[in-house]
Amino acid sequence: MTILKTLTQLPGIPGHESKVKAFIKEELIKENAEILEDNLGSLIAKKGTQGPKIMLAGHMDEIGLIISSITNEGFIKFQTVGGWFSQVMLAQLWDIHTDKGIIIGVTGIKPPHLIPLDQRSKAIPMDDLFIDIGVASKEEALEKGIQIGQMITPHNDYYELANTNYHLAKAFDNRVGSYVVLEAFKRAEPKQAQLYATFTVQEEVGLRGAKTTSYIVEPDLAISVDTGVGNDVPKGDKNEQSLGKGPQIYLFDRTTIGHPKLRRHLLNLANTHDIPTQQPFIKQGGTDAGNMHLAHRGAPAVSLGIPTRYMHSHYSMIHTEDVENAIKLLVAFINTCDQNTLINIKK
Ligand SMILES: [Zn+2]
Repeated sequence: MTILKTLTQLPGIPGHESKVKAFIKEELIKENAEILEDNLGSLIAKKGTQGPKIMLAGHMDEIGLIISSITNEGFIKFQTVGGWFSQVMLAQLWDIHTDKGIIIGVTGIKPPHLIPLDQRSKAIPMDDLFIDIGVASKEEALEKGIQIGQMITPHNDYYELANTNYHLAKAFDNRVGSYVVLEAFKRAEPKQAQLYATFTVQEEVGLRGAKTTSYIVEPDLAISVDTGVGNDVPKGDKNEQSLGKGPQIYLFDRTTIGHPKLRRHLLNLANTHDIPTQQPFIKQGGTDAGNMHLAHRGAPAVSLGIPTRYMHSHYSMIHTEDVENAIKLLVAFINTCDQNTLINIKK
């Protein structure tokens, strides 16, 4: 889990994933993996020499911000990259990644004393938000190294909580998916299949790295590993969406309809290995599988989710047993997959 912790703490918004990529590449080099790359920044590691091509993908990017302008008074205005909700951004700390190092800022917000009563229940528009880095002017901000176009990520730490199976950090979406794919690659021993473990860029802005990497791999079977909604909270709906109840084998999301026979095959394997699973319907959003199953002539695909509370905010929460079970399921799949498996799934 030290690797998972490191992965979540690295900064890497869409189009700025180089630090995450460098770390994963080091891990793959230690494994003597055969490594391929696309031209956008994605990584592909290959294992196995014969049989159907199984493509796994875990996107490396996290949602974040880019500096769009600096006011004359030295406040930072920004463009969101990926799906943010303005309410979770208020009064939070941020890391601004400059050439001179990290500068910390806070999303400034009016004190309640200055907000008229009738406006206090309303969501604050994104355009009204700004980051205060504690300087007196634009000149001072520039002098400290601030420039438009720089990446901004949540500033926080990694926590193991009261029950140490529950972990809290930024960017579990999707460093936990990258971690699962990396661990599955390390542990798997494909005998009659070829494994392509892919670490994609720019998922949060439209599954872009999944598109280019799928054209390189030309998968026969495709599985994306991403975060799924964990909604077992007060006023939530814990049906199929609980932390600690197993990885989620998606039935449906906005970009992919889980391939029925691939899903069934994974569910059977999970049963055989006593791995709990959940089967959510995701009405909003999608995963890399959305582009993985559409390259060339197409491939049966499914999304595997790690249930996650508070996605797309500074702090997201996962359960470590779900992570371990997702890895076990993938390893079981890869190690037993052969040409007959592919024929049966496609039949
Ligand atoms: Zn994601």
